[in-house]
Amino acid sequence: AKARGGNSFEIFDERMAAELKLRDEENHAIIEACRNNQLEFHFQPICSFQTGARIGFEMLVRWPEKNDLWFPADRIISVAEENRLIDLLGKYAISCALSNIKAYGLTEKVSVNVSPLQLGKGELLAHVKAAIKRTGVNPAQLELELTESSVLLDVNGAMEELIEIKKLGITIAIDDFGTGFATLDYLNMFPFDRLKIDRSFVLKLLRDQQSGAIISAVAALARNIGMETTAEGVETQEQYDILRASGCTHAQGYLLGKPAPLSVFFNHETKLYA
Ligand code: C2E
Ligand code: CA
Ligand code: CA
Ligand code: CA
Repeated sequence: AKARGGNSFEIFDERMAAELKLRDEENHAIIEACRNNQLEFHFQPICSFQTGARIGFEMLVRWPEKNDLWFPADRIISVAEENRLIDLLGKYAISCALSNIKAYGLTEKVSVNVSPLQLGKGELLAHVKAAIKRTGVNPAQLELELTESSVLLDVNGAMEELIEIKKLGITIAIDDFGTGFATLDYLNMFPFDRLKIDRSFVLKLLRDQQSGAIISAVAALARNIGMETTAEGVETQEQYDILRASGCTHAQGYLLGKPAPLSVFFNHETKLYA
């Protein structure tokens, strides 16, 4: 038993070391990909509950090296944040959004995720302004989603920068509403255009009645202060029907389309969900 204990400890040790080494290698590869603008974006359709038509796409970061395997976007983002590359990645994302709108002649909106760490320095505002000017894209076609991946350190600075960005005609969404830092406080501080209801509420929809009541109340609250509501993670027709009846204005999820390279959506006819 003693020997076996010793052995399994060694095996455990080796496996841990191998895992740490792999993690380290992956992190370095992500850093390199980020530095060289080699990360890619997939696009996920967002549809209107009222018309069933696709009104936009959300852009989600992907590491092309792991194209066939699922590699969590959250991890790419935390590596970028920890290595002070989030500003670079964020600016690249804005440029990609605008160049794709132009290249595909998109009439839909494109939503770009923005980390709180990008805000408060004026860097994002300057980049957005220049990119809009350079491409001539209608600013109303760009939406920024404020994600809650990290703590908002300078709340006032961040909100001021968002206000300036909004003045350009760009719309702003609060992401993952109901979780983490995305609280009622935020709604009071900033005139968001859209509230995105976190997938966790949609997931519980069919299991408990409370989630349905919360979603209806949040959709009504949003409507009353002039905001639209996008329900995230809509996977089934049943969820879709309940959310539609709850007063949400938009839907996003695998039912309507999985994130994919933008070209995929122009190879076949647009589906309508009514
Ligand atoms: P998010 O902004 O809440 O994005 C929605 C996530 O839900 C995406 O995960 C999407 O693939 C996934 N999703 C969409 N519909 C469904 C569904 O019906 N079922 C299920 N199970 N999942 C669904 P993803 O792509 O892994 O991204 C994770 C998070 O990483 C995002 O959450 C966002 O916070 C962050 N992220 C992704 N791209 C970027 C980026 O370019 N910049 C920043 N700052 N954050 C990003
Ligand atoms: Ca988002
Ligand atoms: Ca979200
Ligand atoms: Ca999220």
